[in-house]
Amino acid sequence: MECLFCRIVAGEIPARQVYADEHAVAFLDINPWHVGHTLVVPRRHVDDLLGKPEALTEIAPAISAVSRLLVDRLAADGLNLLSSSGISAGQEVFHLHVHLVPRYAHRPGLRELMVKEQGIDLDRVHHQIVGEH
Ligand code: AMP
Repeated sequence: MECLFCRIVAGEIPARQVYADEHAVAFLDINPWHVGHTLVVPRRHVDDLLGKPEALTEIAPAISAVSRLLVDRLAADGLNLLSSSGISAGQEVFHLHVHLVPRYAHRPGLRELMVKEQGIDLDRVHHQIVGEH
């Protein structure tokens, strides 16, 4: 299996998973833009949204559930949803994924979306999302 996200879905490569259902898996982005930056991917291999737009419908329940989970557990003030299709759009991993990025009032606005926050402790964030409450 060549595809990185297929390998994560199959459990061959470790990831900090925050959610899974029949159609989708969600895990923390390894190089987050903001605290709680999460990727939602379909279990089946789909290159991008342009190739199979219906795949978005399959993962829609997961996108909703994970958005709610992130905002609640991380006390975020807002959230961005982004999916890139194709090299020109900046896609780097060619397995459909939706970025869910919790946002906070102290760094508002779209211009700040991809300005990376430094020093995020992924294990701590993961525990905050999936740990006992
Ligand atoms: P894109 O540029 O939209 O294709 O986004 C790909 C994302 O995958 C980037 O934000 C990467 O940081 C993230 N990424 C790459 N490898 C891994 C991995 N092993 N686990 C979690 N996220 C990853």
